[in-house]
Amino acid sequence: MDMRSVIVDAGKKLIREGFTVETWGNISVRDDGGRVYITPSGMDYETCTIDDVVVMDLDGNILSGKRRPSIETAMHLSVYRARPEVGAIVHTHPIYSTVFSCMGEGIPLLIDEAAQALGAEIKTTRYALPGTQELADNCVEALGEKANACLLQSHGAVCVGRDMRSAFKVARVLEMTAEVWCRIRSIGGSYVPISEENIKAMQEFAATKYGQPGQ
Ligand code: 13P
Ligand code: ZN
Repeated sequence: MDMRSVIVDAGKKLIREGFTVETWGNISVRDDGGRVYITPSGMDYETCTIDDVVVMDLDGNILSGKRRPSIETAMHLSVYRARPEVGAIVHTHPIYSTVFSCMGEGIPLLIDEAAQALGAEIKTTRYALPGTQELADNCVEALGEKANACLLQSHGAVCVGRDMRSAFKVARVLEMTAEVWCRIRSIGGSYVPISEENIKAMQEFAATKYGQPGQ
């Protein structure tokens, strides 16, 4: 399969599922040969074609594509370098997650889905301008070794997975968790934390037993 079409399809999903507005956000995938395929900067996701996708190596040397790559290329490449198991990255600007990113707060693993899919408690980075190496470094630091997502202060979220399907799963679970947290807070409520032991048990279950074999 041409990995460029993975990017084009994911771009349409990003906008149709409400993970961003206009041309914000960006998406990349890494293939087995270490090549990175990334969305072009500032282009309409609905009209993007495979010819608009930019292909580069892990040092950012362009291998093919005529468009300017996403301004967050440094962030994508830095995450791939820091996390060898990551094969896809989705940078979203979703409403509920962004509420907490603006507040400079993280999001706890307060529901089962979060415990199973997000890897670790979600941190919010300190502020950095979009498109900078500082933002890329902050993102790598907030993800650490285990988290599958983090929030960029006053900006949005970064979600990672072994492939595009898992990165989107993380994006959906993160936003659902943020919405639940927002609603709890808006009625003045609090939550009962899931114990570390149960979080660990669910992570193991999700990694080894949930769903169908070989999927
Ligand atoms: P690009 O259109 O260059 O990917 O930038 C959008 C964005 O979300 C920057 O953080
Ligand atoms: Zn952004």
